[in-house]
Formats: sequence, structure tokens, C-alpha cells
Amino acid sequence: NRQWRLAARPVGNFKDTDFTWHEEPVPALAAGQVRVRNIYLSLDPTNRIWAAQDSYLPAVPLGDVMRGVAIGVVEASTHDALPEGTFVQGLLGWQLYYVGDGKGLTPITKIPGQSLLLYHGVLGAIGLTAYFGLLDIGKPKAGETLVVSAAAGAVGSLVGQIGKIIGCRVVGIAGGPEKCRWIVEELGFDAAIDYKHENVAAALASHCPQGIDVYFDNVGGDILDAALARMNNFGRVVACGAISQYTADRPPVGPSNFLLVVSKRLRIEGFIVLDYLPRAQEAIPQLLGWIASGQLKYRLDVVDGLEQAPQAVRKLFDGSNLGKLVVKVSEE
Ligand code: NDP
Repeated sequence: NRQWRLAARPVGNFKDTDFTWHEEPVPALAAGQVRVRNIYLSLDPTNRIWAAQDSYLPAVPLGDVMRGVAIGVVEASTHDALPEGTFVQGLLGWQLYYVGDGKGLTPITKIPGQSLLLYHGVLGAIGLTAYFGLLDIGKPKAGETLVVSAAAGAVGSLVGQIGKIIGCRVVGIAGGPEKCRWIVEELGFDAAIDYKHENVAAALASHCPQGIDVYFDNVGGDILDAALARMNNFGRVVACGAISQYTADRPPVGPSNFLLVVSKRLRIEGFIVLDYLPRAQEAIPQLLGWIASGQLKYRLDVVDGLEQAPQAVRKLFDGSNLGKLVVKVSEE
């Protein structure tokens, strides 16, 4: 087998030395087990949380295979429900082969003519995060103003497009002119703010003349402060993530203007997409329909080779990923 194991708790962005490469023979199957060959490994901002500390899942123990969601194919099985040839998705880890009892793995169907990558894209966690986070928690209405951060990223780009589909004014915040151009010209956002080169508070004031009704927060930190300051009374803040804080070397400071939550009667609500997996079938037909009609676009950033995973995961924290970040581990 070929594996990346977690060697150290990361400080700041991931470093090569946080992982060790390990090779060993693939263990034989025990009764009720499956051997899965991983095909596509998803790299996610939450990998940094899993490596560092206990959260909604326990921290990955040092020396263990790094936790990661992947898509793979069952190549050998003594498991009744997961026969050979089944495609599966789940916490298969940063490795070529998973051998285990298959608990928590979801069988997936290969859609003719489509790559399995669809299941890391709009049919995967990011599609459900955008869909349920925006619609269930943000509850936007036509005519309202929606602001989303990390807007050119995997989740953010879908959030903004779904906002447009339901008739919102959508303003995205992203790093750099190229990402800002992409979300306005290709995805149809009404405006973009380049937080690396613009004053976010001033830009929000000019692009959200009616204030903000829904802020979909992927980044936390100063951008959250700026958005809170521009919220309308009874606005909703979807606390999806806080990537600007994941690599911080000290506990993050809360929003400095938190009192605005009281005076503006705001609702701030967090969520974890895992809780929505049982409701996936509510979202998937609609997401597929929007893809087919061209109303929903997304891009994938596919890095070739499991060996590249430690370098590749750093892209999420320096912003160099263009779309959903995935490592191709083996052939489909
Ligand atoms: P993205 O594809 O959006 O990649 C991460 C992006 O974050 C980078 O490209 C970068 O874009 C931006 N970023 C990185 N550092 C900073 C910073 N310091 N300040 C502002 N922006 C930064 O990743 P995902 O779509 O997978 O994840 C987006 C967010 O959604 C994360 O916070 C993640 O934790 C959260 N999430 C939450 C889930 C849930 O269940 N609650 C499920 C899935 C994701 P740029 O170039 O614009 O800076």
C-alpha cells in the first residue's frame, strides 16, 4: 500500500514534514471486509482542522493514515452489501488502498458518460453544503442581497450561482482580479470584491446599497466583521467555515462588532454538511437540473498523484486552487 500518515500537528499552513510517506503490503481481507482502490481523493479546508484538533470529529491520531474523503472502487470483498466492482465514497483516507469493514462508505452509481469526479463536485459535499447552507439556513428571498466569501472557491461559487437562480443580488468576495473576473463574467454574480486589493468595508457599502440580507461566511476574521457592519436588521449569517482562522497560531478573536447581532436582530447559524447527508436526495435532482440547463457551473482543480497531496492541500490556504481541489490517486 502507499499512504500519507500524519506525523505532526500542523502549525500555520501544512508543511511537508507534517506527513510521512509509508509503503507496506496490502493486508489480507478478514471476513466482512472490503478492499477499495482509491481513485479521487478530495482535499478540503477541514483537513487542517482534523489534523490539528478535536472538532466535530476527533483529531487524527499522530501516526495514523491522514483522514480524507475519497471515491474508489471495491476490488475485493467478503462484505455482503459491497460486492466487487461497487463504486464507493467515504472516509477512505490518504492512501491507495483502504482495507476495512466498509462502515460509513456510501455506494455511488457511475453516471454514463460522466466522470466519477461529479461526486466530488456538485453531487458531493460541496454541492450539498452550498444548497442546504444557503437555502435551509440563509433562507434568501428574491430581491434580497446575498454576499458570499471565498466566492470563487468550490462552495462559494455554487452559493452565489444558486443565489442568482432564486433571484438575489449577489456580491462575491474573492482574492485577486482573475477570480473576481470569473465570478462576474462567467458565473453571473452582480459584483465582486477583491479582498486582497480593495477595502472590503468600503466596497460592500458601494456594492450593497440596500445592505446585506444574507451573508454566507466561508472565511471569518476581518471579512466577517465588515459584513456584519453592513447587515440589515433581521439578516441571516450562514456560518459555513472560517478558513482565515484555520492556520492561525492563536485562538481567533471573535467579531469585534458582535454587539451588532443584538442591535440588528441578526441570526448567525452554523451547520455541518454531514447532518444533511440523509436529505441529499432533496438537493441532487435540482442540482443536476441546474447543471444540465447551464445555470450552475463549477470547476475542478485535479492534481495528479497521491505523492502530491501534502503540497496540493496547501493551495487551499494560499488561494492557488481554482475550484474544487482533488488528487487523482489512480485511474477510473
Ligand atoms: P475553496 O475551494 O473555497 O478553497 C479555499 C479558498 O479559501 C481558497 O481558494 C482561498 O480563496 C480562500 N482563502 C484561503 N485563505 C483565506 C483567507 N485567509 N482569507 C480569505 N479567504 C481565504 O474550499 P471549499 O469550498 O472546500 O471550502 C470553503 C469553506 O467552506 C471553508 O471555510 C470550509 O471549511 C467550508 N466548508 C464547510 C462545510 C460545512 O459542512 N460547514 C463543508 C465544506 C466546506 P481566495 O483566493 O479567494 O482567497
